[in-house]
Amino acid sequence: MNKAIGILGGTFDPIHFGHLRSALEVSEQLNLAHVRLIPSARPPHRNEPHATPQQRLMMLHLAMKNADGFIVDDRELQRDGVSYSVDTLISLRQDFPDNPLFLLLGTDAFLGIQTWHKWQDLLELAHIVVIRRPDETLAMPMELNTWYQQHLAMPNDEQSLAGNIWPVTVTQLAISATAIRSAVLEGKSPQFLLPDAVIQLISQLGLYRSNE
Ligand code: ATP
Repeated sequence: MNKAIGILGGTFDPIHFGHLRSALEVSEQLNLAHVRLIPSARPPHRNEPHATPQQRLMMLHLAMKNADGFIVDDRELQRDGVSYSVDTLISLRQDFPDNPLFLLLGTDAFLGIQTWHKWQDLLELAHIVVIRRPDETLAMPMELNTWYQQHLAMPNDEQSLAGNIWPVTVTQLAISATAIRSAVLEGKSPQFLLPDAVIQLISQLGLYRSNE
């Protein structure tokens, strides 16, 4: 069996230590070969990102410069139209037919999964990791809870290519890209919330200085 691959999608507007630390801890706990960071071109459920796709990609590359075990994957930026996770997983499955795939989702993202395009197909293509806070209870609607319980991972399920849900508890860093953009807009320092190289690029490009 080939080693498993983690997938973390997001707008990364900008990437920050909340994303990176959680991905690293999940990777260590599930013994992943690597985690692919996949910026979305046009996310279906939210407003247009503030930085352009190319700027968000540049920030990701800078953040990953000396990081082993992470790969920046721009496949959603190469596609036209809205970025659906199910299409991304189909394309990853073609590239990695024999590796278990783990789609990493924060609790907030998981709780909204029933609004995703073809959400019930996701588990045919990958496992889902729900990144949990140590003190959190998951308040799920009934249908989602049933799906969750049906697919909850058991020991040795990591040997399968897809099909299970893995709750994984990580150190909680209450950092959000929204708070970082607000800090920059208000002229406050975002230092220690994200990598210095990314802060420098934000400053050079004058990103997030206005609300547009
Ligand atoms: P925004 O504040 O603009 O909504 P964000 O900081 O939540 O952005 P996204 O790019 O939307 O970042 O997040 C991508 C993925 O990372 C999502 O699955 C989200 O749940 C998860 N995530 C975001 N912030 C954290 C964090 N601090 N700890 C763990 N996971 C996170």
